[in-house]
Amino acid sequence: MQRRRFLAATAATFPLWRLRGALRRVDGPPASVAIPFDLARVRLHPGPFLDAAEVNRRFLTGLDPDRLLHTFRLTAGLPTTAEPLGGWEAPENELRGHYTGHYLSACALAWAGSGDGELKARGERIVAELARCQQALGGGGYLSAFPEEFFDRLRAGRPVWAPFYTVHKIMAGLLDMHTLAGSTQALEVLRGMARWTDRWTQPLGDAAMARVLEREFGGMDEVLYNLAAATGDDGYREVARRFDHERIYGPLAAGRDELKGLHVNTTIPKIIGAARRWELTGEPRYRSVAEYFWREVTTRRAYCTGGTSNGEGWNADPGVLASELSGYTQECCTSYNMLKLTRHVFQWTAEPAAADYAERLLFNGILGTQHPRDGSKLYYVPLASGYWKLFGTPLHDFWCCTGTASESFAKLGEQLYFHDDDGVWVNQFVASEVDWAERGVRLVQETRFPLEAATAVVVRAARPTRFALRVRVPGWSRGGSASLNGRPLDGFAAPGGYYVLERTWREGDRLAVSLPMRLAACAMPDDPALQAVTYGPLILVGRLGTDGLTPATIRAEPTRPRTVPEYKLDPVPAPALRARSADPATWIERVASGQDAAGTPPLEFRTVGQERDVSLVPFHTLFDERYAVYWRVTT
Ligand SMILES: [Zn+2]
Repeated sequence: MQRRRFLAATAATFPLWRLRGALRRVDGPPASVAIPFDLARVRLHPGPFLDAAEVNRRFLTGLDPDRLLHTFRLTAGLPTTAEPLGGWEAPENELRGHYTGHYLSACALAWAGSGDGELKARGERIVAELARCQQALGGGGYLSAFPEEFFDRLRAGRPVWAPFYTVHKIMAGLLDMHTLAGSTQALEVLRGMARWTDRWTQPLGDAAMARVLEREFGGMDEVLYNLAAATGDDGYREVARRFDHERIYGPLAAGRDELKGLHVNTTIPKIIGAARRWELTGEPRYRSVAEYFWREVTTRRAYCTGGTSNGEGWNADPGVLASELSGYTQECCTSYNMLKLTRHVFQWTAEPAAADYAERLLFNGILGTQHPRDGSKLYYVPLASGYWKLFGTPLHDFWCCTGTASESFAKLGEQLYFHDDDGVWVNQFVASEVDWAERGVRLVQETRFPLEAATAVVVRAARPTRFALRVRVPGWSRGGSASLNGRPLDGFAAPGGYYVLERTWREGDRLAVSLPMRLAACAMPDDPALQAVTYGPLILVGRLGTDGLTPATIRAEPTRPRTVPEYKLDPVPAPALRARSADPATWIERVASGQDAAGTPPLEFRTVGQERDVSLVPFHTLFDERYAVYWRVTT
């Protein structure tokens, strides 16, 4: 019954041809043009994405569940002898418990994405202990690592950090443990928390609730909409709606960018909440909010990396970015959340620009933001010249970004493939396979991208099957081509589109696509001489040496309550560059420096003809060294 009502609401507001696939489908969001494959259908194969997932796995398995439960047990009055964690998980920190929620999500995602039974078991153990804590806290559904009194402060307008933000992470972790790892206990605990949330918010009038919403609350509406979708219980939608932040939505629905002055990572989750409201109710206003926001941020408020935010805020008018470079740009949580929103936008539109953007952010906002040695995470991606990646340590920080990165690296497969009834979109070039079980087809992607500018999709099918294979032709590519089973194919799609081949596919068919990369300049919209350099989707960073970087300065200090990492050294300037033309190929060249074990040359470049030449490498491959992303280039 719920589904019929929903479709009726949607059909009135959405072109019918776009509903064709959705009307036949029970599981996908009804507004979907492109349906993402469940993480459990995608497996990463050896390559930089799988390497990163493995580093994160070691980071996650290095954490002791009893330490992650310590402050929950303290708050519930249950015995605990575990050594407290540090940073934002320290017993005196008002955000304590948030990381345990992220950890549950990461365990569930790792189980879905790689079948990691050890992490699933850890997640289940933590869920069981959280259920005990919830009981010990009175059985009214409240569950947190801090006392309910924090919420009294929130209601009274007294100082408190962000209690709903923290509770949201726990609720989202429980929901992921339920939907991805099948935990019924997680759903029970979550239902209790949702009941408590309903009771707490229900008596508040609009004015009081509006005051509550001014305090960062994460994705409370999103998780409650998701709970409504997972259970079919519409009551949760009503609770979710109380967290829909009209002060933020109003201007966006009217097509006005009033984002200046807002805290970026407080805002993006609210937009994801609007996206879920559209998907569940078909109310077009909420799609407008999300789509306008997405376009505005990705085209006018994003750096060349795809990232956004400076000092965690939008401090300037749209298109003003040259003055927004610092050591505290591009908070990693914002990349996590923009990728999440982008996945929704692609579902509604199948727009290649959304997949291009996701690629930019995957390489320049996610990969390369954990340390390959111990999996420590990054808080900010510095975009002013001469800084370095200031990683935390595994046990002493537990920033917001430690949490979102723990999830990001456990779900690297989720942006790769989408489908409708007629075919599959291959959006990202990552060695992997996807199981399209409904059609009895597996697609295996063989690629060393981005080391090689090409990919190949091999079809595994017990019997011949007709469908369309749609391979993204990125906006950055020039002169691509395709071949089928070794024979060149005529015609190719223009950059910023899809190469579509619809045919009856047979076991072993191999579609190979070449996507030549080139050097390109990416200028600041408000200062064209300030430029970054890209090679394909990769930002190339100039290596500025290790001056002053020691074990004591290269990592963030253990974080005290409410502090963020700080650099203990000044940045160093990047040299200004002279160019003969606007084409960076006139001042940068690729360095021929041998081959790796598979015979592929590394991605290394250097400037030429400068007073002081600098070597450049992709952002995601550089660690423990100062770097420059933007250069002042005089032509
Ligand atoms: Zn963060």
